[in-house]
Amino acid sequence: MRAMRLLKWKSDPELVEIDMPEPGPGQVVIKIGGAGACHSDLHLLHDFDESSPLAWSPPFTLGHENAGWVHDVGPDVTGLSKGQAVAVYGPWGCGTCDRCRLGIETYCENIAGAPVPGGGGGLGLDGGMAEYMLIPHARQLLPLPEGLDPVQAAPLTDAGLTPYHAVRRSWPKLPPGSTAVVIGVGGLGHVGVQILKATTATRVIAVDNRDEALRLAEECGADQMVRSGPDAAQEIRRATRGHGADVVLDFVGVDATLALGAATTRSMGDLTIVGIGGGTLPLSFFSVPYEVSIQTTYWGSRPELAEVLDLGARGLVKPKISTFSLDEGPEVYERMHQGSLQGRAVVVP
Ligand code: NAD
Ligand code: ZN
Ligand code: ZN
Repeated sequence: MRAMRLLKWKSDPELVEIDMPEPGPGQVVIKIGGAGACHSDLHLLHDFDESSPLAWSPPFTLGHENAGWVHDVGPDVTGLSKGQAVAVYGPWGCGTCDRCRLGIETYCENIAGAPVPGGGGGLGLDGGMAEYMLIPHARQLLPLPEGLDPVQAAPLTDAGLTPYHAVRRSWPKLPPGSTAVVIGVGGLGHVGVQILKATTATRVIAVDNRDEALRLAEECGADQMVRSGPDAAQEIRRATRGHGADVVLDFVGVDATLALGAATTRSMGDLTIVGIGGGTLPLSFFSVPYEVSIQTTYWGSRPELAEVLDLGARGLVKPKISTFSLDEGPEVYERMHQGSLQGRAVVVP
């Protein structure tokens, strides 16, 4: 079968022929219906090498945002039938440690017991930018609710799940009267705006450096659009009566956006760093307002994915998708690099 693979660090993805996967005991092979292209893949292609803090390396098939249909099940797999539509829960942990038992496989504490330390399919192991994909354990598949097809579901598994986790943990700080800032309205950010609108009554300010992204933010229900730049912090402070935002979600993570977050988070607020832009934020007693919580978040939990799929099936969250063939895969990353994609690109093999 054909697959788009990262063959070595600091190289472009290549379309190559590989063997069809075979499911072992407890395992499942799915036929890919959609595989989303994430900006993290660009970091994988361009920013990482042997010296990076990842415990795995190429070659592997890209694509960690996947949905499709059950194609073949191994011995001991129950509860899934051939042809059934499923979404892949992407972070693959050991399945038995305290965190994995709660479905929080992102933060598995038994790295040696996981199929790939801190990764999953498309992140160290073969992902979904191929015709078929091996799923190491049936628990990593969630049946798609009525009303959701694999192309729509694929982006929900990361571009949906990651902002959902980040927003959900800040729900208590987002009552009516509060303000949330979303920095970076790309694949994750535009779904993040929708999740804030669908699950809270907060006012949403969207920040981006591209006009098309700000237009998409408005389509997604953002209340105010701010162009990033030297005046952004002042604009946000003005819009919040000088107080700053109760929650700032940074989906970029470069020096400038981290500084903007620090300058615009309200005292006792949350500054949540989701983007892996490589920036740093100097931290000292007076560098952020009192009691601001600063955290990074990684992806989300399996129960949270079920909640996101429900939001998707009910039409409350609807990623803006453009589809591409497997042949067009390398072009997708080229366009992502140039910043000419809107919403999420999904590869449909
Ligand atoms: P994307 O390319 O689809 O979107 C990025 C958006 O940020 C674009 O709209 C771009 O115009 C905007 N942007 C870039 N620089 C900016 C700046 N200085 N100010 C304001 N806006 C700016 O990317 P994506 O797939 O949404 O991923 C976003 C980031 O999140 C990436 O760094 C990715 O690696 C990371 N990510 C993290 C996790 C996690 O679990 N923490 C999961 C998935 C992706
Ligand atoms: Zn991702
Ligand atoms: Zn575990």
